[in-house]
Amino acid sequence: MSSNPDLLAAIPERCEADLIGLSRIHDPDSEGWTRTVFSDPYRESREWIRARMIDVGLEVHPDGAGNLVGVLPGRNPAASPLVTGSHTDTVRGGGRFDGAVGVLGALEAVRLLREHDLQLDRDLLVIDFLGEESNEFGLSCMGSRALAGELSAADLDRQDHHGTRLGDRYAAFGIDPSGVLASSGWAKTRALHRYVELHVEQGPLLEESGVPIGVVTAIAGIERILATFTGRPDHAGTMPMGDRRDALVAAAEAVLAVRQEGCGAPVHGVATTSQLVSEPGSPNVVPGRVRMQAEMRSVDPGWLSEAQRRLTEKITLQASAYGVDVDFEWSHDNECRPASPSVHQTISSAVDSLGIAWEPVPSGATHDAVHMARLCPMGMIFVPSQGGRSHCPEEWSELDHIATGVQVLAMTLVELDRTTD
Ligand SMILES: [Zn+2]
Repeated sequence: MSSNPDLLAAIPERCEADLIGLSRIHDPDSEGWTRTVFSDPYRESREWIRARMIDVGLEVHPDGAGNLVGVLPGRNPAASPLVTGSHTDTVRGGGRFDGAVGVLGALEAVRLLREHDLQLDRDLLVIDFLGEESNEFGLSCMGSRALAGELSAADLDRQDHHGTRLGDRYAAFGIDPSGVLASSGWAKTRALHRYVELHVEQGPLLEESGVPIGVVTAIAGIERILATFTGRPDHAGTMPMGDRRDALVAAAEAVLAVRQEGCGAPVHGVATTSQLVSEPGSPNVVPGRVRMQAEMRSVDPGWLSEAQRRLTEKITLQASAYGVDVDFEWSHDNECRPASPSVHQTISSAVDSLGIAWEPVPSGATHDAVHMARLCPMGMIFVPSQGGRSHCPEEWSELDHIATGVQVLAMTLVELDRTTD
């Protein structure tokens, strides 16, 4: 324990024991540390989290949307609460740190506050959000979306590839689907003060700079492209090259155009084509129709909308040279979400007071913080990811970095508790 109570040094061995304890609960039939939302290992892990919340002295309330909410009561029950948390579900074949560091780190922060007799003025809510990772219903951040009032009845009618409704999956997991839509009530009726989330970076920037802490500037917005290329199916043996309307050749040019747009992006902009489906897919037929799925991400909304315009023009022009028509469906996944300047300032001051180097970093990955930012000012603390790897079994963050991140989280919570606006 730190000799200076203001410094709230985390105990690395406790953080490690928690991370190992949670990592033991995973799907033995999948690679890595798989704990997908609604699965049996996920159910078991959340019982484990609930018990850990009680161990550290939190009062646990399920909130109707499947979030686990641990409350550390403050001196002033009327004051708007501080919120921290993250998620404990993983992608299939995922790692041990994504999300887990934020939830378990928050529990260590609570231990530190209690051991130093630092009762906050405000209630502190530690939330393990339901299902942050994108799932077979095409929905990510289910718990934080519900809290922010961003889930609709239409979302509950979404189906997975077996035709199961999302609402029915909630019910099978023991969550009343009607409560999911109503659950934004508690967050809306009780104004939240600030939201801070500790997370692994999931990218290489901090490791490349050799700094242990990143203070997030903004979370990238996402624009998704579904493009349909319509050419003409013909006999692949008889139709001369110059007379073809080959939809796959036009789509191949589009893949390169998407990559080129990402390579030219300022600040952290990226562009990825993830799928091409060519029809009819026979070796002796010129492809007549191709569906392409791609996405662009950036923390610069101006670049995102300009890139969307440029890509639409370029792909259309390139395709027309092959006699191919293109229809675009653009969908807006998340808007670019800047961190609150005041929360960013509070986090960076906490790091400065420890004499530790930090760096402002963008987040290319989406987080529950995107949705919590609709309810109150938001900030995020990043710790380095080895090799920038994440969403894979090799995902790794150093224990010392995690402990430093927890210390910064605890100090930030103490400071935010004092802000009155
Ligand atoms: Zn995560």
